[in-house]
Amino acid sequence: MCSRCGLCDTYYVAKVKEACGFIGDGMSRIDQLEEQVHGRQRDLGEADEVTFGVHEHMSFCKLTPGVEGAQWTGVVTTIAVEMLRAGMVEAVVCVQSDPEDELKPKPCIAMTEEEVIEARGVKPSLSPNLEVLAEVEARGIKKLLFIGVGCQVQALRSVEKYLGLDELYVVGTNCTDNGPREGLEKFLQVTSANPDQVKHYEFMQDYRVHMMYKDGVTVEKVPYFCLPADQLTDVIATSCYSCFDYVNSLADVVVGYMGVPFEGPDVPMTKHFQYATIRNEKGREIWDLLRGTERLVEEPTTREGARQDFVKQTLVTDDDVQLGRAKSNPLPLWIGNILADVLEKIGPKGLEFAAYSLDYHVLRNYLLVYRRLGREKAWRHLPAYAKKIIESEDYEAIVAKQIAKG
Ligand code: FAD
Ligand code: SF4
Repeated sequence: MCSRCGLCDTYYVAKVKEACGFIGDGMSRIDQLEEQVHGRQRDLGEADEVTFGVHEHMSFCKLTPGVEGAQWTGVVTTIAVEMLRAGMVEAVVCVQSDPEDELKPKPCIAMTEEEVIEARGVKPSLSPNLEVLAEVEARGIKKLLFIGVGCQVQALRSVEKYLGLDELYVVGTNCTDNGPREGLEKFLQVTSANPDQVKHYEFMQDYRVHMMYKDGVTVEKVPYFCLPADQLTDVIATSCYSCFDYVNSLADVVVGYMGVPFEGPDVPMTKHFQYATIRNEKGREIWDLLRGTERLVEEPTTREGARQDFVKQTLVTDDDVQLGRAKSNPLPLWIGNILADVLEKIGPKGLEFAAYSLDYHVLRNYLLVYRRLGREKAWRHLPAYAKKIIESEDYEAIVAKQIAKG
Protein backbone atom coordinates (compact mmCIF):
# COMPACT_ATOMS: atom_id res chain seq x y z
CA MET A 1 0.00 0.00 0.00
CA CYS A 2 3.08 2.24 -0.35
CA SER A 3 2.38 5.85 -1.39
CA ARG A 4 6.05 6.41 -2.33
CA CYS A 5 6.29 9.36 0.09
CA GLY A 6 10.10 9.16 0.03
CA LEU A 7 10.70 8.37 3.75
CA CYS A 8 12.27 5.01 2.90
CA ASP A 9 14.80 6.72 0.61
CA THR A 10 16.38 8.35 3.68
CA TYR A 11 17.97 6.93 6.83
CA TYR A 12 14.64 7.65 8.58
CA VAL A 13 13.63 4.33 7.03
CA ALA A 14 14.64 3.01 10.47
CA LYS A 15 11.48 4.72 11.80
CA VAL A 16 9.17 3.48 9.05
CA LYS A 17 7.15 1.17 11.31
CA GLU A 18 6.08 4.08 13.52
CA ALA A 19 5.82 6.65 10.71
CA CYS A 20 4.19 5.02 7.71
CA GLY A 21 0.46 5.57 7.28
CA PHE A 22 0.10 2.13 5.72
CA ILE A 23 1.92 -0.21 8.13
CA GLY A 24 0.56 -1.67 11.39
CA ASP A 25 -1.66 0.92 13.08
CA GLY A 26 -1.51 2.91 9.83
CA MET A 27 -3.74 5.94 9.65
CA SER A 28 -5.25 5.38 13.10
CA ARG A 29 -2.09 7.11 14.37
CA ILE A 30 -3.66 10.35 13.18
CA ASP A 31 -5.70 10.41 16.41
CA GLN A 32 -2.60 10.63 18.65
CA LEU A 33 -0.70 12.81 16.22
CA GLU A 34 -3.56 15.37 16.24
CA GLU A 35 -3.02 15.66 19.98
CA GLN A 36 0.75 16.09 19.46
CA VAL A 37 0.42 18.68 16.70
CA HIS A 38 -2.75 20.64 17.56
CA GLY A 39 -2.93 19.99 21.32
CA ARG A 40 -6.21 18.10 20.95
CA GLN A 41 -7.96 15.46 18.88
CA ARG A 42 -10.81 16.42 16.60
CA ASP A 43 -14.12 16.83 18.42
CA LEU A 44 -16.24 13.91 17.24
CA GLY A 45 -19.35 15.58 18.69
CA GLU A 46 -18.94 18.42 16.20
CA ALA A 47 -20.05 17.52 12.65
CA ASP A 48 -17.60 19.82 10.85
CA GLU A 49 -14.64 18.55 12.91
CA VAL A 50 -15.55 14.96 12.00
CA THR A 51 -15.45 15.96 8.34
CA PHE A 52 -12.68 18.58 8.12
CA GLY A 53 -10.53 17.80 11.18
CA VAL A 54 -9.29 20.03 14.00
CA HIS A 55 -9.72 23.67 13.05
CA GLU A 56 -9.94 27.18 14.45
CA HIS A 57 -11.17 28.80 11.28
CA MET A 58 -12.26 28.01 7.72
CA SER A 59 -12.79 30.47 4.89
CA PHE A 60 -13.25 30.83 1.16
CA CYS A 61 -10.24 32.66 -0.20
CA LYS A 62 -8.45 33.77 -3.33
CA LEU A 63 -5.61 36.03 -4.31
CA THR A 64 -6.07 39.01 -6.60
CA PRO A 65 -4.02 39.15 -8.63
CA GLY A 66 -3.26 35.44 -8.55
CA VAL A 67 0.05 33.78 -9.31
CA GLU A 68 0.37 33.13 -13.03
CA GLY A 69 0.73 29.43 -13.78
CA ALA A 70 -0.49 28.33 -10.32
CA GLN A 71 -3.05 25.58 -9.92
CA TRP A 72 -5.76 27.94 -8.66
CA THR A 73 -4.92 31.47 -7.51
CA GLY A 74 -1.60 30.47 -5.94
CA VAL A 75 -2.47 30.71 -2.23
CA VAL A 76 0.02 27.93 -1.40
CA THR A 77 2.87 29.45 -3.43
CA THR A 78 2.24 32.92 -2.00
CA ILE A 79 2.27 31.65 1.59
CA ALA A 80 5.68 30.08 0.93
CA VAL A 81 7.07 33.20 -0.76
CA GLU A 82 5.84 35.46 2.06
CA MET A 83 7.26 33.16 4.77
CA LEU A 84 10.68 33.23 3.11
CA ARG A 85 10.49 37.03 2.74
CA ALA A 86 9.51 37.48 6.37
CA GLY A 87 12.36 35.23 7.54
CA MET A 88 9.91 32.87 9.25
CA VAL A 89 11.65 30.01 7.41
CA GLU A 90 14.98 29.51 5.64
CA ALA A 91 13.77 26.88 3.18
CA VAL A 92 10.64 25.30 1.70
CA VAL A 93 10.17 21.67 0.75
CA CYS A 94 7.96 21.77 -2.36
CA VAL A 95 7.45 20.00 -5.68
CA GLN A 96 8.88 21.24 -8.95
CA SER A 97 8.54 19.45 -12.31
CA ASP A 98 11.03 16.90 -13.52
CA PRO A 99 13.10 18.68 -16.22
CA GLU A 100 12.31 15.87 -18.68
CA ASP A 101 8.59 15.56 -17.89
CA GLU A 102 6.45 18.51 -16.83
CA LEU A 103 3.84 16.31 -15.12
CA LYS A 104 6.34 14.26 -13.10
CA PRO A 105 6.94 15.56 -9.56
CA LYS A 106 10.46 16.46 -8.45
CA PRO A 107 10.64 17.35 -4.75
CA CYS A 108 13.11 20.08 -3.92
CA ILE A 109 14.40 22.31 -1.13
CA ALA A 110 13.63 25.85 -2.29
CA MET A 111 15.76 28.56 -0.66
CA THR A 112 14.68 31.48 -2.89
CA GLU A 113 11.37 33.00 -4.01
CA GLU A 114 12.14 32.01 -7.61
CA GLU A 115 12.59 28.37 -6.64
CA VAL A 116 9.27 28.39 -4.74
CA ILE A 117 7.44 29.99 -7.66
CA GLU A 118 8.90 27.37 -9.98
CA ALA A 119 7.06 24.75 -7.88
CA ARG A 120 3.61 26.30 -8.47
CA GLY A 121 0.92 24.02 -9.92
CA VAL A 122 0.01 20.43 -9.07
CA LYS A 123 2.01 17.58 -10.65
CA PRO A 124 -0.79 15.05 -10.34
CA SER A 125 1.01 11.89 -9.24
CA LEU A 126 2.68 10.36 -6.18
CA SER A 127 5.63 12.46 -5.10
CA PRO A 128 8.49 11.34 -2.81
CA ASN A 129 8.59 14.66 -0.89
CA LEU A 130 10.31 13.18 2.16
CA GLU A 131 13.37 12.03 0.21
CA VAL A 132 14.90 15.50 0.70
CA LEU A 133 14.75 15.36 4.53
CA ALA A 134 18.32 14.10 4.96
CA GLU A 135 19.52 16.99 2.81
CA VAL A 136 17.57 19.46 4.96
CA GLU A 137 19.57 18.21 7.93
CA ALA A 138 22.87 18.11 6.01
CA ARG A 139 22.43 21.74 4.90
CA GLY A 140 21.91 22.78 8.53
CA ILE A 141 18.41 24.19 7.86
CA LYS A 142 16.67 24.97 11.16
CA LYS A 143 13.45 26.74 10.12
CA LEU A 144 11.48 24.85 7.50
CA LEU A 145 8.16 25.06 5.68
CA PHE A 146 6.98 21.70 4.31
CA ILE A 147 4.29 21.64 1.61
CA GLY A 148 2.67 18.26 1.05
CA VAL A 149 -0.29 15.88 1.06
CA GLY A 150 -1.72 13.86 3.96
CA CYS A 151 0.34 10.65 3.79
CA GLN A 152 3.58 12.65 3.51
CA VAL A 153 2.58 14.91 6.40
CA GLN A 154 1.68 11.94 8.65
CA ALA A 155 5.15 10.42 8.11
CA LEU A 156 6.79 13.84 8.58
CA ARG A 157 4.97 14.47 11.87
CA SER A 158 6.08 11.06 13.11
CA VAL A 159 9.79 11.79 12.54
CA GLU A 160 9.61 15.54 13.27
CA LYS A 161 11.28 15.07 16.65
CA TYR A 162 14.39 13.54 15.03
CA LEU A 163 14.95 16.30 12.47
CA GLY A 164 16.75 18.78 14.73
CA LEU A 165 14.60 21.70 13.51
CA ASP A 166 13.89 24.80 15.59
CA GLU A 167 10.69 25.54 13.64
CA LEU A 168 8.58 23.39 11.35
CA TYR A 169 5.53 24.82 9.56
CA VAL A 170 3.32 22.60 7.41
CA VAL A 171 1.02 23.83 4.66
CA GLY A 172 -1.02 20.99 3.19
CA THR A 173 -3.37 20.47 0.31
CA ASN A 174 -6.39 18.21 0.21
CA CYS A 175 -5.59 15.04 -1.71
CA THR A 176 -7.46 12.03 -2.99
CA ASP A 177 -7.30 9.41 -5.75
CA ASN A 178 -3.67 10.06 -6.62
CA GLY A 179 -1.57 7.52 -8.49
CA PRO A 180 1.72 6.69 -10.17
CA ARG A 181 2.94 8.74 -13.14
CA GLU A 182 2.28 5.77 -15.49
CA GLY A 183 -1.37 5.68 -14.38
CA LEU A 184 -1.75 9.37 -15.14
CA GLU A 185 -0.82 8.62 -18.75
CA LYS A 186 -3.65 6.11 -18.98
CA PHE A 187 -6.12 8.47 -17.29
CA LEU A 188 -5.36 11.25 -19.78
CA GLN A 189 -5.53 8.86 -22.74
CA VAL A 190 -9.07 7.75 -21.91
CA THR A 191 -10.33 11.13 -20.63
CA SER A 192 -8.94 13.82 -22.91
CA ALA A 193 -9.29 14.46 -26.63
CA ASN A 194 -5.71 15.86 -26.53
CA PRO A 195 -3.86 13.98 -23.79
CA ASP A 196 -0.46 15.45 -24.74
CA GLN A 197 -1.74 18.98 -24.16
CA VAL A 198 -3.01 18.62 -20.58
CA LYS A 199 -1.05 20.38 -17.83
CA HIS A 200 -3.46 20.56 -14.86
CA TYR A 201 -6.75 18.90 -14.14
CA GLU A 202 -9.30 18.88 -11.29
CA PHE A 203 -12.48 16.95 -10.52
CA MET A 204 -14.70 20.00 -10.15
CA GLN A 205 -17.84 20.82 -8.23
CA ASP A 206 -19.85 20.98 -11.48
CA TYR A 207 -19.46 17.18 -11.84
CA ARG A 208 -16.93 17.59 -14.64
CA VAL A 209 -13.18 17.05 -14.95
CA HIS A 210 -11.62 20.35 -16.03
CA MET A 211 -8.36 19.87 -17.93
CA MET A 212 -6.21 22.96 -18.41
CA TYR A 213 -3.99 22.75 -21.49
CA LYS A 214 -0.34 23.73 -21.63
CA ASP A 215 -1.25 26.97 -23.45
CA GLY A 216 -2.72 28.16 -20.12
CA VAL A 217 -6.01 29.19 -21.81
CA THR A 218 -7.84 26.16 -23.23
CA VAL A 219 -9.91 24.15 -20.76
CA GLU A 220 -11.43 20.81 -21.81
CA LYS A 221 -14.40 19.67 -19.68
CA VAL A 222 -15.67 16.11 -19.46
CA PRO A 223 -18.61 15.13 -17.20
CA TYR A 224 -17.74 12.43 -14.63
CA PHE A 225 -20.51 10.25 -16.11
CA CYS A 226 -18.74 10.08 -19.48
CA LEU A 227 -15.62 8.44 -18.02
CA PRO A 228 -15.13 4.68 -18.46
CA ALA A 229 -14.89 3.89 -14.72
CA ASP A 230 -13.95 0.22 -15.25
CA GLN A 231 -10.84 1.27 -17.23
CA LEU A 232 -9.74 3.64 -14.50
CA THR A 233 -9.63 1.43 -11.41
CA ASP A 234 -5.86 0.75 -11.75
CA VAL A 235 -5.08 4.42 -12.37
CA ILE A 236 -5.44 5.13 -8.65
CA ALA A 237 -2.67 3.73 -6.39
CA THR A 238 -3.53 1.08 -3.76
CA SER A 239 -2.27 3.54 -1.11
CA CYS A 240 -4.86 6.09 -2.24
CA TYR A 241 -7.59 3.45 -2.19
CA SER A 242 -6.53 2.83 1.44
CA CYS A 243 -6.17 6.47 2.47
CA PHE A 244 -8.23 8.13 5.20
CA ASP A 245 -6.60 11.55 5.22
CA TYR A 246 -8.17 13.46 2.35
CA VAL A 247 -8.27 16.61 4.55
CA ASN A 248 -4.60 16.49 5.59
CA SER A 249 -5.39 16.39 9.31
CA LEU A 250 -1.89 17.13 10.58
CA ALA A 251 -0.99 20.27 8.58
CA ASP A 252 -1.15 23.74 10.18
CA VAL A 253 -3.05 25.16 7.20
CA VAL A 254 -4.78 23.22 4.42
CA VAL A 255 -5.77 24.67 1.03
CA GLY A 256 -8.18 22.96 -1.37
CA TYR A 257 -11.05 23.74 -3.69
CA MET A 258 -13.81 21.21 -3.24
CA GLY A 259 -15.54 23.11 -0.38
CA VAL A 260 -16.29 26.15 -2.52
CA PRO A 261 -19.48 26.56 -4.58
CA PHE A 262 -18.81 26.47 -8.32
CA GLU A 263 -18.79 30.05 -9.61
CA GLY A 264 -19.91 29.19 -13.14
CA PRO A 265 -18.40 28.07 -16.44
CA ASP A 266 -17.02 31.55 -17.20
CA VAL A 267 -14.83 31.76 -14.10
CA PRO A 268 -11.53 29.92 -14.67
CA MET A 269 -9.83 28.02 -11.85
CA THR A 270 -7.16 30.72 -11.78
CA LYS A 271 -9.75 33.33 -10.68
CA HIS A 272 -11.97 31.03 -8.63
CA PHE A 273 -12.29 30.93 -4.84
CA GLN A 274 -10.38 28.18 -3.00
CA TYR A 275 -10.98 27.23 0.63
CA ALA A 276 -8.65 27.15 3.59
CA THR A 277 -8.68 25.33 6.91
CA ILE A 278 -6.58 26.92 9.65
CA ARG A 279 -5.97 24.28 12.29
CA ASN A 280 -3.81 25.75 15.04
CA GLU A 281 -1.71 28.65 16.31
CA LYS A 282 1.01 28.20 13.70
CA GLY A 283 -1.70 28.11 11.06
CA ARG A 284 -3.03 31.43 12.37
CA GLU A 285 0.47 32.94 12.20
CA ILE A 286 0.74 31.82 8.55
CA TRP A 287 -2.73 33.12 7.70
CA ASP A 288 -2.13 36.52 9.36
CA LEU A 289 0.98 36.89 7.22
CA LEU A 290 -1.02 36.16 4.06
CA ARG A 291 -3.74 38.63 5.11
CA GLY A 292 -1.02 41.26 5.46
CA THR A 293 -0.29 41.06 1.72
CA GLU A 294 -3.64 42.75 0.98
CA ARG A 295 -4.03 40.50 -2.07
CA LEU A 296 -6.14 38.04 -0.09
CA VAL A 297 -9.92 38.16 -0.60
CA GLU A 298 -11.79 36.15 2.05
CA GLU A 299 -15.45 35.24 2.46
CA PRO A 300 -17.27 33.19 5.06
CA THR A 301 -17.88 29.56 4.15
CA THR A 302 -21.35 28.51 2.97
CA ARG A 303 -23.19 25.22 2.47
CA GLU A 304 -26.40 24.13 0.82
CA GLY A 305 -28.32 20.87 0.35
CA ALA A 306 -27.97 17.45 1.93
CA ARG A 307 -25.23 15.07 0.81
CA GLN A 308 -26.28 11.70 2.21
CA ASP A 309 -28.43 10.37 -0.68
CA PHE A 310 -25.83 11.47 -3.22
CA VAL A 311 -23.10 9.71 -1.24
CA LYS A 312 -25.07 6.46 -1.14
CA GLN A 313 -25.90 6.62 -4.84
CA THR A 314 -22.27 7.25 -5.86
CA LEU A 315 -21.00 4.57 -3.49
CA VAL A 316 -23.27 1.82 -4.82
CA THR A 317 -22.68 2.71 -8.47
CA ASP A 318 -18.88 2.72 -8.08
CA ASP A 319 -18.65 -0.25 -5.74
CA ASP A 320 -20.76 -2.43 -8.03
CA VAL A 321 -18.31 -1.65 -10.85
CA GLN A 322 -15.37 -2.49 -8.55
CA LEU A 323 -17.06 -5.80 -7.71
CA GLY A 324 -17.69 -6.52 -11.38
CA ARG A 325 -21.45 -6.62 -10.65
CA ALA A 326 -22.21 -3.73 -12.96
CA LYS A 327 -20.64 -2.62 -16.21
CA SER A 328 -19.44 0.93 -16.27
CA ASN A 329 -21.63 2.66 -18.78
CA PRO A 330 -20.07 5.96 -19.91
CA LEU A 331 -22.77 8.34 -21.16
CA PRO A 332 -22.50 10.22 -24.46
CA LEU A 333 -21.08 13.69 -23.90
CA TRP A 334 -24.34 15.57 -24.46
CA ILE A 335 -26.31 13.43 -21.98
CA GLY A 336 -23.43 13.64 -19.48
CA ASN A 337 -23.52 17.43 -19.76
CA ILE A 338 -27.27 17.55 -19.11
CA LEU A 339 -26.90 15.29 -16.07
CA ALA A 340 -23.99 17.36 -14.73
CA ASP A 341 -26.06 20.57 -15.10
CA VAL A 342 -29.03 19.02 -13.28
CA LEU A 343 -26.89 17.65 -10.43
CA GLU A 344 -25.11 20.96 -10.07
CA LYS A 345 -28.49 22.63 -9.56
CA ILE A 346 -29.99 20.13 -7.12
CA GLY A 347 -26.84 18.68 -5.51
CA PRO A 348 -24.93 19.69 -2.37
CA LYS A 349 -22.91 22.90 -2.56
CA GLY A 350 -20.04 24.55 -0.70
CA LEU A 351 -18.90 22.70 2.40
CA GLU A 352 -21.73 20.19 1.86
CA PHE A 353 -20.20 19.23 -1.54
CA ALA A 354 -16.82 18.72 0.17
CA ALA A 355 -18.52 16.59 2.83
CA TYR A 356 -20.17 14.55 0.02
CA SER A 357 -16.78 13.84 -1.51
CA LEU A 358 -15.17 13.12 1.87
CA ASP A 359 -17.89 10.75 3.11
CA TYR A 360 -17.90 8.91 -0.22
CA HIS A 361 -14.11 8.39 -0.19
CA VAL A 362 -14.13 7.18 3.43
CA LEU A 363 -16.87 4.62 2.66
CA ARG A 364 -15.43 3.49 -0.68
CA ASN A 365 -11.95 3.06 0.80
CA TYR A 366 -13.33 1.23 3.83
CA LEU A 367 -15.06 -1.34 1.60
CA LEU A 368 -11.84 -1.88 -0.38
CA VAL A 369 -9.61 -2.13 2.71
CA TYR A 370 -12.13 -4.43 4.41
CA ARG A 371 -12.10 -6.80 1.44
CA ARG A 372 -8.32 -6.79 1.21
CA LEU A 373 -7.38 -6.97 4.91
CA GLY A 374 -10.46 -8.23 6.73
CA ARG A 375 -12.40 -6.33 9.36
CA GLU A 376 -9.92 -6.56 12.23
CA LYS A 377 -6.93 -5.17 10.33
CA ALA A 378 -9.08 -2.62 8.51
CA TRP A 379 -10.46 -1.37 11.83
CA ARG A 380 -6.90 -1.13 13.23
CA HIS A 381 -5.93 1.11 10.28
CA LEU A 382 -8.84 3.56 10.59
CA PRO A 383 -8.78 6.91 12.42
CA ALA A 384 -11.66 7.41 14.87
CA TYR A 385 -13.42 9.94 12.63
CA ALA A 386 -13.66 7.42 9.78
CA LYS A 387 -15.17 4.79 12.10
CA LYS A 388 -17.75 7.37 13.16
CA ILE A 389 -18.76 8.01 9.52
CA ILE A 390 -18.89 4.29 8.64
CA GLU A 391 -21.00 3.49 11.70
CA SER A 392 -23.30 6.50 11.35
CA GLU A 393 -27.04 5.97 10.98
CA ASP A 394 -26.80 7.46 7.49
CA TYR A 395 -24.43 4.84 6.09
CA GLU A 396 -24.36 1.77 8.35
CA ALA A 397 -26.97 -0.12 6.30
CA ILE A 398 -25.51 0.65 2.88
CA VAL A 399 -22.04 -0.41 4.01
CA ALA A 400 -23.42 -3.73 5.34
CA LYS A 401 -25.32 -4.26 2.08
CA GLN A 402 -22.22 -3.72 -0.09
CA ILE A 403 -20.12 -5.98 2.16
CA ALA A 404 -22.74 -8.72 1.78
CA LYS A 405 -22.42 -8.46 -2.02
CA GLY A 406 -18.80 -9.65 -2.00
P1 FAD B 1 -0.15 26.48 -6.03
O1 FAD B 1 0.20 27.83 -5.51
O2 FAD B 1 -0.17 26.24 -7.49
O3 FAD B 1 0.85 25.45 -5.33
C1 FAD B 1 0.73 24.08 -5.52
C2 FAD B 1 1.66 23.39 -4.53
O4 FAD B 1 1.44 21.99 -4.66
C3 FAD B 1 3.13 23.64 -4.80
O5 FAD B 1 3.68 24.31 -3.69
C4 FAD B 1 3.75 22.25 -4.93
O6 FAD B 1 4.87 22.13 -4.08
C5 FAD B 1 2.66 21.32 -4.45
N1 FAD B 1 2.61 20.07 -5.21
C6 FAD B 1 2.58 19.95 -6.56
N2 FAD B 1 2.49 18.67 -6.91
C7 FAD B 1 2.48 17.95 -5.76
C8 FAD B 1 2.40 16.57 -5.46
N3 FAD B 1 2.31 15.64 -6.43
N4 FAD B 1 2.42 16.17 -4.17
C9 FAD B 1 2.51 17.09 -3.18
N5 FAD B 1 2.56 18.43 -3.39
C10 FAD B 1 2.55 18.85 -4.66
N6 FAD B 1 -7.93 19.80 -3.51
C11 FAD B 1 -9.21 19.42 -3.33
O7 FAD B 1 -10.03 20.24 -2.90
N7 FAD B 1 -9.62 18.15 -3.62
C12 FAD B 1 -8.75 17.20 -4.10
O8 FAD B 1 -9.13 16.06 -4.34
C13 FAD B 1 -7.39 17.57 -4.29
N8 FAD B 1 -6.48 16.66 -4.74
C14 FAD B 1 -5.14 17.04 -4.82
C15 FAD B 1 -4.18 16.07 -5.17
C16 FAD B 1 -2.81 16.41 -5.20
C17 FAD B 1 -1.78 15.36 -5.54
C18 FAD B 1 -2.40 17.73 -4.87
C19 FAD B 1 -0.94 18.11 -4.84
C20 FAD B 1 -3.35 18.69 -4.54
C21 FAD B 1 -4.73 18.35 -4.52
N9 FAD B 1 -5.71 19.30 -4.15
C22 FAD B 1 -7.01 18.90 -3.97
C23 FAD B 1 -5.35 20.70 -3.86
C24 FAD B 1 -5.59 21.63 -5.05
O9 FAD B 1 -5.40 20.98 -6.26
C25 FAD B 1 -4.59 22.80 -5.03
O10 FAD B 1 -3.32 22.29 -4.82
C26 FAD B 1 -4.86 23.74 -3.92
O11 FAD B 1 -6.14 24.28 -4.05
C27 FAD B 1 -3.82 24.84 -3.92
O12 FAD B 1 -3.92 25.62 -5.09
P2 FAD B 1 -2.91 26.85 -5.26
O13 FAD B 1 -3.21 27.57 -6.52
O14 FAD B 1 -2.91 27.61 -3.99
O15 FAD B 1 -1.53 26.02 -5.40
FE1 SF4 C 1 -1.15 10.14 -0.10
FE2 SF4 C 1 -3.73 9.75 0.42
FE3 SF4 C 1 -3.01 11.54 -1.46
FE4 SF4 C 1 -2.69 8.95 -1.94
S1 SF4 C 1 -4.67 10.01 -1.62
S2 SF4 C 1 -1.14 10.55 -2.30
S3 SF4 C 1 -2.16 8.14 0.09
S4 SF4 C 1 -2.62 11.64 0.79
